[in-house]
Amino acid sequence: TAVMEKILLRRSSLLRDQQQAWQESLEGREMLEFRQSLPAYKEKDTILTAILQNQVVIISGETGCGKTTQIPQFILESEIDSARGAFCSIICTQPRRISAISVSERVASERGEKLGESVGYKVRLEGIKGRDTRLLFCTTGILLRRLLVDRNLKGVTHVIVDEIHERGMNEDFLLIVLKDLLPRRPELKLILMSATLDAELFSSYFDGAPLIHIPGFTYPVRTHFLENILEMTGYRLTPSNQIDDYGQERMWKMSKQAPRKRKSQIVSSVEDALRAADFKDFSPQIQESLSCWNPDCIGFNLIEYLLSYICENERPGAVLVFMTGWDDISSLKDKLQAHPVLGDPSRVLLLTCHGSMASSEQKLIFEEPEDGVRKIVLTTNIAETSITINDVVFVLDCGKAKETSYDALNNTPCLLPSWVSKVSTQQRRGRAGRVQPGECYHLYPRCVYDAFTEYQLPEILRTPLQSLCLQIKSLKLGSISEFLSRALQSPKLLAVQNAIEYLKVIGALDENENLTVLVEPKLGKMLILGAILNCLDPVLTIVAGLSVRDPFLTPLDKKDLAETAKLQFSHDHSDHLALVRAYEGWKEAEKDLAGYDYCWKNFLSAQSMKAIDSLREEFLSLLKDTGLIDGYATSCNDWSYDQHLIRAIICYGLYPGICSVVHNEKSFSLKTMEDGPVLLYSNSVNARESRIPYPWLVFNEKIKVNSVFLRDSTAVSDSVLLLFGGSISRGDVLLNPQIVLHLHHELISAIRLLVSEDQCDGRFVFGRP
Ligand code: ADP
Ligand code: MG
Repeated sequence: TAVMEKILLRRSSLLRDQQQAWQESLEGREMLEFRQSLPAYKEKDTILTAILQNQVVIISGETGCGKTTQIPQFILESEIDSARGAFCSIICTQPRRISAISVSERVASERGEKLGESVGYKVRLEGIKGRDTRLLFCTTGILLRRLLVDRNLKGVTHVIVDEIHERGMNEDFLLIVLKDLLPRRPELKLILMSATLDAELFSSYFDGAPLIHIPGFTYPVRTHFLENILEMTGYRLTPSNQIDDYGQERMWKMSKQAPRKRKSQIVSSVEDALRAADFKDFSPQIQESLSCWNPDCIGFNLIEYLLSYICENERPGAVLVFMTGWDDISSLKDKLQAHPVLGDPSRVLLLTCHGSMASSEQKLIFEEPEDGVRKIVLTTNIAETSITINDVVFVLDCGKAKETSYDALNNTPCLLPSWVSKVSTQQRRGRAGRVQPGECYHLYPRCVYDAFTEYQLPEILRTPLQSLCLQIKSLKLGSISEFLSRALQSPKLLAVQNAIEYLKVIGALDENENLTVLVEPKLGKMLILGAILNCLDPVLTIVAGLSVRDPFLTPLDKKDLAETAKLQFSHDHSDHLALVRAYEGWKEAEKDLAGYDYCWKNFLSAQSMKAIDSLREEFLSLLKDTGLIDGYATSCNDWSYDQHLIRAIICYGLYPGICSVVHNEKSFSLKTMEDGPVLLYSNSVNARESRIPYPWLVFNEKIKVNSVFLRDSTAVSDSVLLLFGGSISRGDVLLNPQIVLHLHHELISAIRLLVSEDQCDGRFVFGRP
C-alpha cells in the first residue's frame, strides 16, 4: 500500500499540472469564463464547504444553472488542487442514458480533455472509462448493478444522485440503499441534486441534511393559455380542423372500445374542471371554439398554425415544442415538413429531441442556426430538466406526457399520455426565459391548468414492482415489504403483494420469498431449459434479443417495406424464431464484414445485433459460472434448431404470458384471461397472418396504449402449453426451475419425443418417470 500511495501521489500531481496548463491556455480561460457566468459557480465555495462538513448535502437550482456539469467538477477540481486528485472517485448518476453520455462529453470538453481521461461514462452495454477516470457519469441502473457485487462501494468517495425531483423508481430505490450504507461508510459523501424547490422531503429523509439553493436568474416569460391564443391569433377550432387530429381519432377509438376504463383515468378531474368552466368573458366566437375543444386532443393544426405565426411575426429565437411521445413527434415532423414555410430549410431548422436519438443528431440541438434560420425543436419531456437548449425564446406546451403506470386490478402496465403536473408546466415555461424575455403557449385552457396536480406521483407509487422486488432480493436486502416501507414514500401493500405473487407464479421466488434464479426470471428459465435440452445456441439469441431494443426497425415512412422484410425471416409463426434467423444471417454477413449492409437491407438495427452478440457471451459465461453447462457444448447438433423444441422452451420461459387464438371465417382474434380481447403490434409476424396453426400464442410483453397490445409472440400447441406452461392451481411441479434441474435423462428424452412429434392432443397426463 505504501507503493500504491506513492504512485497515486505522483498521478495526483500530474493531474494538477494538467489542470493548471488547461486553465492557463486561451481556450481554457474562455471556457472558465463561461463556467463562471453560471449561477452554480457563484455558490462554489458554499457548496464545497457544506460537502466537507456534512455527509449528505441537498442542492436545488433551476434547470440550466449548472448543477450537473459544474458541481461534480467542483469536487474533482478541489481534490486535484489539493494534490489528492488520484485518490478520489466520484460517481454521478443520471436517470437516462442519453444524459449520462451527453453530460460526460460536455464536462470532458470543459476540462479540455477527451472522454476516458479524468471524466468517463458508463451506461448499459456501453461506456468510456480509463485508468485515470475519477469522475464517472452513469445511469442509476449501473450504480445499482455495481452495488450488487460491491455492497460498500469500496473506493468511491462521492456519490451524486442527480434529478431526484423526477422521483424515478431507480432513484427512490437507490436512496434507501444509500441511506443504509452511510453509517457503514462514514467517509462517503452523498450529494442529491434537484431542479425543484421541494427538496425538504429529502432533507428530512436524511435526518435534516443541509439544503443549498442556487438562486437563478430567468427573464420573465409571458404565459398564454388556449383562450388567449385563440383570441390573439384569431384562430378558430372547428370540427373540420380537428378531423385529422391524432387525439380526436384516438379518443373516438377509445370510447368505442373501452369506455369504462377510460373513465377511471386521472384526467377525470381535468374533465370535470372543463365542464364547469365558464368562458363567458370571451367573445362568442372564442366561446364556440372552446366548446368544441376536446381536452384529450392538442390539434396538430393548431401547433402548425402557431409555429408559422411565430416564424412570420415574431422576433428571432428558437422554439421548443413539448409533445407527448416519439410517435407524435415523428408524425408532427412529417406534417410540418410539407408546410411551405416550416418545411423550408432556408428558413427553418426542424429538429427532434428524444431519449433514443443518435449523438450526431444531439449535437445539432445545441448549435445556433445560421442568421435568418429559426430553430424548432420537437421534444419529449426530456428537455424539461435533463437537457438545456440555450437559445430558446418560445415554448409550446401540449400539457401531456407519456407516463408509465400500472393497472393493479388486471396487472397490466400502461403507457398512456396523461396530463403533466403544475411543477412540470413551470419547468417547461422556464425554458423560454433563459436568454431574453420569452413566450410560452399552453395549448389548453387555464381551467385545465388549474386542475393539474401539484407534483407528479413518484414512479414507485404508479408502476409494477416486480423488477424492483427482484432487485431487493438479489441485493440481499431482506424482506421486500419491510424494505419498501423505508422508502421516501412507500408503495401500496396491494401492489407489493401483487408483485410478490407474480414472482412466485413464474417461479422466481419460492414460498419463503427467496430468489431462485439470477437473471430476469423468464429469461433465466429459458436459458436453463435450453442448456438442459442442449439447444442453447438459438436460446441464447432469443434471450439476448429480448434484453435489447427491438432489432427489427420500422421507420414510419417505410413501414410496409420493413414489415415485409421481417416476414422473410418467419416461417413458423414466431417473432422469436424470426429473430434467430435474422441474427444467424447477420453473423454470416459479419464474416465478410458485410453486417452493416445486411442490416440496412433488412431493416435491422446493427447496434442491437452487436448488443445481442455481446449479451450472448455474457449469458454464456453466467451459465458457465453456475456450472449449468458443464459438459454441454453450445454448438449445433441434430436437434438444437428443432423449431418444436425451441417453441417449447419459449413457452416455458414466457408463461404466464399467454393468449388464446380464436379463428373466425377470414381471420382470428386474440384473448387473454385478464384483459379480454388483445391485439398484436403491427410488426409482429403473426399480425400479417390470416390463420395461426396453433391455438395459443405466448408473448413476451403486453402494454396498454388505448387497447392492450402484445409484442413478440410465438404460436404453441396444446401439448406444449400443457407440458411447459404450468399453473399453480394444477399443482404442476414441472415448472419449478430447481426441479427441472433434477429431471432424469429419460424424462428429457420423453419430452423431446413428445415435443418433436407434437402429436399429443392435450389430454396427456404427466406421471412420474
Ligand atoms: P443543470 O444541471 O443545472 O440543469 P447543466 O449543468 O446541465 O445545468 O448546464 C449548465 C449550462 O451549461 C447550460 O445552461 C448550458 O448553457 C451549458 N451546457 C450544458 N450542456 C451543454 C452542451 N452539451 N453544449 C453546450 N452547452 C451546454
Ligand atoms: Mg442537470
